[in-house]
Amino acid sequence: CFCQVTGDLEDCACDVETIDGFNNDQLFPKLQTLLESDYFRFYKVNLNKPCPFWKVQSHCGLKLCAVQPCSPNEVPEGIRSPSHNKYSAEANDNQDTCEQEKHLGAVDVSLSNETREALLSWSKHDDEAERFCVVDDEESPDSQYVDLLLNPERYTGYKGPEAWQIWNSIYEENCFKPSTIQRPLIPGLFQSSSGNEAKSFYNWLEGQCVEKRAFYRLISGLHASINIHLSARYLLDDSWFQRKWGHNVTEFRQRFDSELTAGEGPKRLRNLYFLYLIELRALAKVLPFFQQPSFRLYTGRPAEDQKHKELLLDILQQARNFPLHFDETSLFTGDEIEGAKLKEDIRLAFLNISRIMDCVGCFKCRLWGKLQTQGLGTALKILFSERQIEALKPKSSGERPSFQLSRQEIVSLLNAFGRISTSIRELKNFRALLAEER
Ligand code: FAD
Repeated sequence: CFCQVTGDLEDCACDVETIDGFNNDQLFPKLQTLLESDYFRFYKVNLNKPCPFWKVQSHCGLKLCAVQPCSPNEVPEGIRSPSHNKYSAEANDNQDTCEQEKHLGAVDVSLSNETREALLSWSKHDDEAERFCVVDDEESPDSQYVDLLLNPERYTGYKGPEAWQIWNSIYEENCFKPSTIQRPLIPGLFQSSSGNEAKSFYNWLEGQCVEKRAFYRLISGLHASINIHLSARYLLDDSWFQRKWGHNVTEFRQRFDSELTAGEGPKRLRNLYFLYLIELRALAKVLPFFQQPSFRLYTGRPAEDQKHKELLLDILQQARNFPLHFDETSLFTGDEIEGAKLKEDIRLAFLNISRIMDCVGCFKCRLWGKLQTQGLGTALKILFSERQIEALKPKSSGERPSFQLSRQEIVSLLNAFGRISTSIRELKNFRALLAEER
């Protein structure tokens, strides 16, 4: 039942062991190797976008929040080259074609400038209409490459009312929840909820359509994943002669132990597994896109690029072979007009969440928050583009495939999944550490 979201929120006899075995023994090690490659480690991001909702108090003073951007010569030239950066599958065929012609595809080049402009703007419009996430303008002087391996997601000390405000906005304003219903909060620093409030929240959630329930679970799964990472790479010692990072079991227990969280912790971990299955399904579905012969993980080093493409295809094939796939055909299957509206509501809500990431005061948290929401947004785009992906066929000259992913989307998709996969792996470590304590 893990593979269906049609039942009750709580009715899943989660086959955690199957997922753990599949992830920890098969997928996780390969993903780590892939994500260390140059194509996947350099992510272009604008960390200086102003928050569109409120005035942000910057945490750049917190040394653990700092992000070290790359100097231009650290990033392979092939990645920096705009003609390889935009749409990965077509860029490689027409290396000399200018960006405009790539967008226009087979359109007659003798068209007037005005018509070309109009077509260009429609092409841009179409891309944006498919997106679940705001994409940073890569051409902006504020966008910079960041080496993700040198800026790992871990404990930063970002907490308190500001961090809480971000999570609150995401849940309260974007999860379709009426303000009269309170989300269950763990007793602690800011608020706690009574058992009755938790009950009325879950009653309300049960009454929602399956899509809105799924949406809540995705956000909660992402939240759980971030909090697992900060517990697994916690700053254990910060003395003048050494900085030691490692597992903080007390921190983990406070966030996920059933008794300490009035039963909320285990639900949040289940949401993490749910998120894992959604992203895994997206990886399985997008395989034909990456199988196109014209697709390359272009860094300018052909032998390496080929090796990493093969590894990527191997991972996606493995994702396809996973036996317990979530069946997203149960989503958006109702009345056509209603279904389209619902999908659009969810897309817009998700766009809003990606904007909220520009309000995160800690740059390191903002970096990983932006990357993971973009990755999840890309996964949703894939799940709802099934027909276009299946229709991908060897293209005739100049024809623009109807389904596209930019390098930024590809890098965020795989890295976001890498984060969730690492969280699942970390749960195994925490289980062992907790067993040792007993
Ligand atoms: P919070 O995690 O802030 O949670 C707020 C409320 O939501 C709590 O009352 C809790 O009961 C409820 N809640 C908690 N988890 C869930 C869940 N899974 N599902 C539903 N409800 C839940 N800190 C770092 O050290 N490193 C990072 O890289 C980092 N990245 C972040 C990225 C973003 C986008 C944000 C918003 C925060 C990030 N943080 C990071 C901060 C971190 O997530 C916590 O906010 C912080 O540690 C304070 O934790 P807390 O115990 O106060 O509860």
